[in-house]
Amino acid sequence: MTVRLRIAPSPTGDPHVGTAYIALFNLAFARRHGGRFVLRIEDTDRARSTPESERMISESLRWLGLLWDEGPDVGGPNGPYRQSERGALYRKYADELLEKGAAYRCFCSAERLDQVRKAQEAAKHQPRYDGKCRILPRAEAEARVAAGEPHVVRLRVPEDGFTSFADLIRGEVRIENRTVDDQVLLKSDGMPTYHLANVVDDRLMGITHVVRAEEWISSTPKHLLLYRAFGWETPQFGHMPLLRNSDRTKISKRKNPTSLKWYEAQGYLPEALVNFLALQGFSVPEGIEIFPFSRVVETFEFSRINTTGPVFDLQKLEWLNGEYIRKLGAEDLAQRLLPFARPGTSLETVRSILPLVQGRLKRLGEFQELTDFFFADRVEYEAGLLVPKKLEPARAVEGLRTFVQAYAAMAAPVATEIDREGRAIAERLGWKVGDLFMMLRVAVTGKTATPPLCETMVALGKDKVAARLDEAVRKLDGLARTAPSPAGQPQ
Ligand code: GLU
Repeated sequence: MTVRLRIAPSPTGDPHVGTAYIALFNLAFARRHGGRFVLRIEDTDRARSTPESERMISESLRWLGLLWDEGPDVGGPNGPYRQSERGALYRKYADELLEKGAAYRCFCSAERLDQVRKAQEAAKHQPRYDGKCRILPRAEAEARVAAGEPHVVRLRVPEDGFTSFADLIRGEVRIENRTVDDQVLLKSDGMPTYHLANVVDDRLMGITHVVRAEEWISSTPKHLLLYRAFGWETPQFGHMPLLRNSDRTKISKRKNPTSLKWYEAQGYLPEALVNFLALQGFSVPEGIEIFPFSRVVETFEFSRINTTGPVFDLQKLEWLNGEYIRKLGAEDLAQRLLPFARPGTSLETVRSILPLVQGRLKRLGEFQELTDFFFADRVEYEAGLLVPKKLEPARAVEGLRTFVQAYAAMAAPVATEIDREGRAIAERLGWKVGDLFMMLRVAVTGKTATPPLCETMVALGKDKVAARLDEAVRKLDGLARTAPSPAGQPQ
């Protein structure tokens, strides 16, 4: 048997990180068993679905390298792969269910349903359809339909007993039928709901394993009842643990970024994000944390899924991303950084400053901030930052001048030479070496934390560095003039 798995996102907003998370395990299982992976767009909610959202979902999954074998854009033998293009089909299946008595027509108005729900809530009962139309004689229902009365089609859920299934991840799951609502299958506009469309499509697309998020568990009995009513063999079901905010609630954009576009824009590497998502609930036999998607494919077993909901830890993702950045070849990283550099920056320039930042970057999006001083005409900072602790501005400027002279005397300064001179000068002046270098760092970059200073000075070039040092001398002079003398007397 060829296994066939699918991801079935609803295109109603930004591409969600949970979609990628579920897609990756479906894909891994499909690849591991030489099967097929399908992308199906569940756009039956016409009010909320947009082509823009569908485009972004495809783009983001492609960006992550989670590629499908069949889908709306690549085609395949089981299309169309957009539910909005399969409309007539679902009505045919709803008719079959009506015919078999597994579904019934319901004419209750929205107002009535509202009243029923309110009464149930007041009585502290679980809100559900009260079954008024379940007992309508078939002929009466058909006559009302013929008279054009608006209605929906509902699933006839058995009133007692239970529905159970062997979840691939959780084992036996058993749900009492009396807790399952008579689900609407076809809306009054003739469009199917998720439940009907999902089951019909999984069947027609030959899906063998339905691997989806935990939140769908309560829908699975409805789906099983549908399979049984149609007389179809059921696929196997597996429900993945949900991604969670740090307070363990289901991941939500109020508490955690959820859009894959956000992760891309921040400069997370797709392979790092896939690794991170794989780690949410899954582990490889070696117990290591950094592994490529190919390793997930090689080792994926449902038994390796941990069902306690993982917490989506952005700091961990940052760390992991930094590890991936450090493993990249220089040319590869330069190409990936270019879109994150200031507009107009050449690849050549990115290449030249890359060695200075590769060890520090956690996200590609930090590149600009970390390197803006390379591009700026002048750097902005508070003059006071130049003054080492416990030193007067007048002494500080003296130290800086000494360095400026030594620097001017270097024909073509290299990092070791700058370092050596700096240390020698600090020693002669009786300064801490770190104080002198911090002063130079601020003068040259405007920041107190930067890539290695001497290498940075070489990359900036002698003219730029000299100009910034001169500017720092001027600033310090200004400070020295306005600062009170050591004795606190006016000078
Ligand atoms: N359209 C559903 C979703 O948006 C699919 C759920 C399923 O995989 O059955 O998640």
